[in-house]
Amino acid sequence: MSAASSTADALVHVAVPVPNLDMLTYAVPDGSPMPCVGARVVVPLGARVVTGIVVEVNVQDRRATETNYRPADVKAIRQILDSGAFVPPDVVALAQWTAEYYASGVGDAIPALLPPMARGGRADAHKTIRVAAITAAGIEALQGDVTTMQREVLAVLAGTPTGVATPALAARGMAGSAISRLAKRGYISVRFEKTDRNPFASLEEGQTWVRPGSDPGLTPADRQLTPEQADALARLRLLLDTRGFQVALLHGVTGSGKTEIYIRLATAARASDRRVLMLVPEIALTPVAAFLFRNAFGERVAIQHSGLSDGERHDQWQRIRRGDIDVVVGTRSAVFAPLDNVGLIVVDEEHDASYKQEESPRYNGRDVAIVRAQRAGALVVLGSATPSMESYHNAMTGKYQRVVLERRVLDRPLASVRVVDMREEYAIEGPETILSRALRDGIRDRLERQEQALVLLNRRGFATAVFCRQCAGTVDCPNCSVSLVVHGEGHARRARCHYCNFTSRVPTACPLCAGPYLEQAGFGTERVEAEVRNACPDARVARLDRDAIRRKGSLASLLSRFREGAIDVLVGTQMIAKGHDFPRVTLVGVISADVGLGLADFRASERTFQLLTQVAGRAGRGEQRGEAIIQTLYPDHYSIQLACRQDFPAFYERELTFRKAMRYPPVLSLVNAVVRSRTFAGAMDDAAGIAETLRRADANLRILGPAPAPLGRLRGEYRAQLLIKGTNRKKIREALQAALAGRSDLQRRVVVDVDPLSVL
Ligand code: ADP
Ligand code: ZN
Repeated sequence: MSAASSTADALVHVAVPVPNLDMLTYAVPDGSPMPCVGARVVVPLGARVVTGIVVEVNVQDRRATETNYRPADVKAIRQILDSGAFVPPDVVALAQWTAEYYASGVGDAIPALLPPMARGGRADAHKTIRVAAITAAGIEALQGDVTTMQREVLAVLAGTPTGVATPALAARGMAGSAISRLAKRGYISVRFEKTDRNPFASLEEGQTWVRPGSDPGLTPADRQLTPEQADALARLRLLLDTRGFQVALLHGVTGSGKTEIYIRLATAARASDRRVLMLVPEIALTPVAAFLFRNAFGERVAIQHSGLSDGERHDQWQRIRRGDIDVVVGTRSAVFAPLDNVGLIVVDEEHDASYKQEESPRYNGRDVAIVRAQRAGALVVLGSATPSMESYHNAMTGKYQRVVLERRVLDRPLASVRVVDMREEYAIEGPETILSRALRDGIRDRLERQEQALVLLNRRGFATAVFCRQCAGTVDCPNCSVSLVVHGEGHARRARCHYCNFTSRVPTACPLCAGPYLEQAGFGTERVEAEVRNACPDARVARLDRDAIRRKGSLASLLSRFREGAIDVLVGTQMIAKGHDFPRVTLVGVISADVGLGLADFRASERTFQLLTQVAGRAGRGEQRGEAIIQTLYPDHYSIQLACRQDFPAFYERELTFRKAMRYPPVLSLVNAVVRSRTFAGAMDDAAGIAETLRRADANLRILGPAPAPLGRLRGEYRAQLLIKGTNRKKIREALQAALAGRSDLQRRVVVDVDPLSVL
């Protein structure tokens, strides 16, 4: 130890953006000052040089205990880029906690949590943008002789007299040629502006987020809270005023006005000189949330999410870092925003699976938010109409404060829910039926009344399988143990794997027996869209799922077109179920409500309950009462029954009984370890070896497996699964780390998921 300790005061741990590396030890060069935690440093790594972040200073070399250790092997830092901290030390520490808790390499986890350009070290990038504004002649021309595209541009600009950035117009599909032609005719003026890249551009400029018919001048401040909202706010304010760590579960039915409470609470936090982090589960929900906060806080609101370009994200990150921002709105990664003096963190739709990152580090943004609040002495508010089993359990056992909103604002009733038993429907209408009579009639009805409908099916594509009538074989992915999904119709028809993206023509003969009798089976959102068009030829129908929004900006434009009433029926996956507030939707149809129940996942019922309750909650948020029609083959399943009654407490009790009997979270902690291998036997053997070591290390661990994972083959590799349960996550993690110690080959092939949301 003496050699190591003599140099200890000149060593630092650095996290570098290289996968699977732990932190690395470097020496501070002679004559250099000790860098700060959070400073960027340039370090040699093999033959390369990389930029890393200093995580700990005045350390001992982590390899000092190895027998062949030579202090001379420690390499020196090449350059220290920052004299202070680039990333605030508390954020570095939070990232370090995250990497450790979720058992991922601290090395790459920390840089992965930073904005992309920060890694390269380019600071303060500004950008010049073109801004178009309508002229008086342009306003007249709106009535006159212009093309449809030109009129669309003029209409958008007319709504925003200060002008709209041209990239924002382009993002809405407005051609550059139309803009230059309008400029030539003097209908618009174009100017150059130097700005921080402004991710608000696309929402401020031209998109009507304010609902049609409502008074845009009505700020939240003039609005009367309902008595229930006022009570909830008062209770939360008491917690905020303690200026200490608090967790509150705001359990409010859909449409109960939770957002209003968040904004008022944020206002209170700011009035007491503290800052606010507002997390939403989906990028699609950030514009609306940001708009509402901007109404209340003006310029001092920033957005952070992965859908921003690197430049935009970097600019916003810098503004937060400089202290120019009081409220950060963003998706899970925003939990690492460099915001200081955080007094309030809101996690909206806390149950949502999007808070979990499904790649390393596999963190849950909600849980990291709680840790951040704990360290900052802040209040964290978890909001949901359908809390996760974990959060509700914590509220019921007194770990969290529970604040309830049982009614919708203005006493709007919850949607009436009707279950259609598809077995009966098939008997009458035939086994090919996709839209029940009730749903078809319901949609037609809404079209006549000029209201809107949402139709949910949580499965993408046109047909979900192709099978052979002669040998019963299916057309499967060559790399994964799933059948290929057919997308498109006619000439555009392709077969695609939803896991590895393998794509091929749809074969005309069976790949196994060469028989020509191939048939498509099962259906997804594309087929539902086609069925709705068939049933209602005059309706304006659109689809919202991952396939439909591949182009940047298409999601925002779809949502705003629906909001503006340019779309009558929106068909989609769970994306349409989330948080949106569409006041003219009075009907929600759910096709195959039971799709999720067939999955071999202990959360299947919880997910189904949440999805159905949430999507039903999208109906009837305006003046008209809403209706939900739920089609299923299992009308008696408890998660369907209780979702129809919107009876959360009964669902919780029922589900908790199941979790207790099966010993699953929230009763115990769970870690999912999946071993990948080129052969099935290899995967199973390695998993068995790990299980054996775990059992010997800790007799209190409960280990299920090894068993083939539900998705037994993925991207050409076989997968064996171990589910490890225990009362103490740290012990599970340590036992796993011990089982993998010194086996770097195996470490690379094992995916460890702590607190998994999906075990497929
Ligand atoms: P939740 O998030 O709980 O589902 P929202 O916050 O989206 O509900 O509120 C639902 C709708 O009710 C929104 O359009 C919102 O503007 C409106 N709203 C909220 N509070 C009030 C209030 N006190 N009076 C009138 N309308 C309200
Ligand atoms: Zn595949």
